[in-house]
Amino acid sequence: MSSPTVLLVEDNEDNRTIYTTILRHVGIDVIEAANGEDGIRLARERRPAVILMDVAMPGIDGWEATRRLKADMETAHIPVIALTAHAMAEDRQRAAEAGCEGYLAKPIEPRRVVEEVRKMLDRLAAAAAQ
Ligand code: MN
Repeated sequence: MSSPTVLLVEDNEDNRTIYTTILRHVGIDVIEAANGEDGIRLARERRPAVILMDVAMPGIDGWEATRRLKADMETAHIPVIALTAHAMAEDRQRAAEAGCEGYLAKPIEPRRVVEEVRKMLDRLAAAAAQ
């Protein structure tokens, strides 16, 4: 079986490097997008198992990108973990409204990214086994 692929949509290059490095370290394949447009395109083309979505990006932000992915039958099933700037109730609510399955508030410890991705992958594996 091939290893699962995670799509990381994040405009900050340092964050992309940190999250990609730790995910690859634990055996998870990562494809990267630096903006919402590329994120939506790569989600359609590559069908990742899970999407990590920064919400604050120029152009199509992560909220809008998630709404578009959830409105598309081809990508609606892919779990989206929102990466938000604040651990505020308002952001948690927005994540739920946009259709995100998970939520991490920055600053995010790299191991928390791995934990959350693994949680989603375990859920998918459990659902597939039923
Ligand atoms: Mn950002």
